[in-house]
Amino acid sequence: MPIANCKRCNRIFNKGRRELCPQCIAEEDAAFRVVKAYLKDHRDATLAEVTDATEVDVELLVAMIRNGRLLLRDNPNLTYPCERCGQPTHAGHYCPQCAAELVTALSGAQEELARKIKGKDNDGYYSRRQHL
Ligand SMILES: [Zn+2]
Ligand SMILES: [Zn+2]
Repeated sequence: MPIANCKRCNRIFNKGRRELCPQCIAEEDAAFRVVKAYLKDHRDATLAEVTDATEVDVELLVAMIRNGRLLLRDNPNLTYPCERCGQPTHAGHYCPQCAAELVTALSGAQEELARKIKGKDNDGYYSRRQHL
């Protein structure tokens, strides 16, 4: 069994498929259940209200939302800042607008890259031929 340092508390533990030690996993699971229960009773809660009431770390709470474990469909006020523009969002890393812009930018960059690779191949081919 390989050992590793827990990403959260830095304790050494037997590494399984997860990056956290069993104790941190148990703590996160407990925090998740507390937050879930709180949100069910307080649908209009904000991020600050949830962390105040549940004493769950704000970073842990945001991580649960970002990785999709905590879904906020029923909690419109529970938002956190978009990583790109700072606008309030409540799913993933970016607000819907940034997510859309990034998809567009990414596909544009991929097309450009594909063109560059293609052009480079051709240049290489022709310059090699010219040297022969
Ligand atoms: Zn740990
Ligand atoms: Zn944004």
